[in-house]
Amino acid sequence: MTVPVFRFAPSPNGHLHLGHAYSALLNQQMARTTGGRLLLRMEDIDRERCTPDLEQTMLEDLHWIGFEWETPVRRQSEHFAVYQEALSKLISMDLVYPAFLSRGDIKREIERIAGDKNNWPRDPDGALLYPQADKELSKREREKLISEGRPFSWRLNMDRAIAQIGEPLSWSETAPEKHTVEARPQDWGDVIIARKDMPTSYHLSVVIDDALQGITHVVRGRDLFHATSVHRLLQRLFGIEPPVYHHHALVLDLDGEKLSKSRKDTALRELRSQGETRQEIYRLVGL
Ligand code: GLU
Repeated sequence: MTVPVFRFAPSPNGHLHLGHAYSALLNQQMARTTGGRLLLRMEDIDRERCTPDLEQTMLEDLHWIGFEWETPVRRQSEHFAVYQEALSKLISMDLVYPAFLSRGDIKREIERIAGDKNNWPRDPDGALLYPQADKELSKREREKLISEGRPFSWRLNMDRAIAQIGEPLSWSETAPEKHTVEARPQDWGDVIIARKDMPTSYHLSVVIDDALQGITHVVRGRDLFHATSVHRLLQRLFGIEPPVYHHHALVLDLDGEKLSKSRKDTALRELRSQGETRQEIYRLVGL
């Protein structure tokens, strides 16, 4: 029988709050009850927003709440070559294309086509879908823009990727109970696979790393439920066996809003400095 492998994968671009504590401790609880392993991964591809100091504080906060992870910690920033290889594979499959539109260009292009951006479809996170403009560029035009030094990201040609797979995708979800979810990658349009200044994006690295680390159970917040459709698609393109997913409820503040890293009152370090105990954190997150 294979040993279950869980992971907690924060981005060190701010301070951990009660929502992170819940996610980390739920992973730990599930790992313990199933005799599984528990890994920690720093999703720090954003070299501007993620800093060693923030990572250090995260490690201290996690230690303080009693989260016990296996070492070494995997840092995504140390594995760009691995993501580059995955990206190259998608390039050679002709499933990604260079996308040159800036945020402002996207808005203008949408207004040009649809008149008003409220007439334009949005992805499950509420962002406007990427317009088709770059897909119509010829190879020559593309090469010209690249040689002129125009910045670009790599975007997935979603229609082509879905057509290539040729059958519906689904995943096994265990929250609130075990069921199968039909994946809807089409709702995301041409997602970013590699950002302008790096050979990867959240979607690409998370899929590659969960596979490389042998993760069998992804336990994370409900806010990433819809993104799983993109992950399932990438897994299929790379021939990766999917883990089981458990998208837990989010910890909300008293106004029913999702917690954010910029808020102070629910930050773990703040609670610790106010003299709260580890037991109190467990109680606050309902574990
Ligand atoms: N790094 C992501 C975050 O901090 C979590 C990614 C995941 O669990 O898949 O929101």
